[in-house]
Amino acid sequence: MTDLHLNEDCIFCKIIRGEISSFKLYEDDLTYAFMDINPLNDGHALVIPKYHAENIYATPDEWFGPTMSTVRRIASAVNKVVRPEGINLLQANGPGAKQSVFHFHMHVIPRYADDGAGMNWEMKHGDMDAIGELAEQIVAAIE
Ligand code: 5GP
Ligand code: ZN
Repeated sequence: MTDLHLNEDCIFCKIIRGEISSFKLYEDDLTYAFMDINPLNDGHALVIPKYHAENIYATPDEWFGPTMSTVRRIASAVNKVVRPEGINLLQANGPGAKQSVFHFHMHVIPRYADDGAGMNWEMKHGDMDAIGELAEQIVAAIE
């Protein structure tokens, strides 16, 4: 089995270890899913790998497959129970993205067109030259 890599002080690692209670939805060897206690809408859930890494950049590749499998299972179950108009998967890295817990996590968020929570940004045609230039820089930065 992959070595778990947890942190003493991290609130999500404490939830994985059962030191802090949570409304657990699902657990397997590599992942853990639970209800968010500050839900954006009813049914808001979180899925985490049992590997402590601050953000997406620090999380090793092998954790994404298991984590996304659990995200799919949880999103399907939330969708069945809550029957929202839609579900957003969200993941925050850094202050500009409003990350507040520094253990990589995926939000599973039931959404409604009129919930006023944003993220339904308007389509505004971009500058094709600028998009193309950025694409080249990003391609060159892929490791
Ligand atoms: P972030 O802002 O980092 O993307 O999301 C962190 C999420 O963790 C927030 O939505 C917040 O409500 C949730 N959260 C923070 N502390 C706890 C906790 O102790 N238990 C649970 N279940 N969720 C938490
Ligand atoms: Zn952690």
